[in-house]
Amino acid sequence: MKIVLATNNMDKVREIKAYYNQFDVIALGQICQPFEIEENGNSFYENAMIKARTVYAKLVDLGLENECIALSDDSGISVEALDFRPGIYSARYSGESATDASNRAKLITELNKLGLSQSNAFYTACIGICSKFGEYGVHGFMHGKVIDKELGSSGFGYDFMFIPNGFDKTVGQLDESIKLEISHRSKGLRLAMPVLKVLSRYY
Ligand code: IMP
Repeated sequence: MKIVLATNNMDKVREIKAYYNQFDVIALGQICQPFEIEENGNSFYENAMIKARTVYAKLVDLGLENECIALSDDSGISVEALDFRPGIYSARYSGESATDASNRAKLITELNKLGLSQSNAFYTACIGICSKFGEYGVHGFMHGKVIDKELGSSGFGYDFMFIPNGFDKTVGQLDESIKLEISHRSKGLRLAMPVLKVLSRYY
């Protein structure tokens, strides 16, 4: 069984491959020309399933549904002081042409506008699976706080300004192996593992 990742985000691909090193995980670009998927759902779950279903439909188109399944990750950060924004809009927080850097800058500006230098926050990842045997979705979370500074160089996105509970460093300053143990993504992937183990018996 091959697990085709329904994402063009190479940081996610790297983390999922590292966590699932016992499975045959491949990026979307390895089976077809990468394409954009419109994420118009109202929750992490809806967006994760939209991505997994779209890539599964592509697998069917290519006649690969008997050897491959689709796996997606929809994720983001929710900041308590900002009424849990940006949430599902984390990738586009600073506008349509947003970059990770412009999103972090906007988050710092929004915190400072409220006179804050930090706030409780949490990451969510919904892992979606779509296969010829059906669909499955599961969430993982990582709680902590965001600060109005960017520290470290490990990880991506909001990691340089996120301090997980139980640590005094940002994810950007922590070793990648620690993120792999405690992240929202890893927790979601861990919960999806039993389903993947069962599926792998039938491919
Ligand atoms: P998605 O591709 O629509 O799921 O958007 C995910 C966005 O959430 C990314 O662009 C990042 O801004 C943010 N994000 C999700 N997971 C992480 C993470 O593990 N570290 C840092 N930022 C993340």
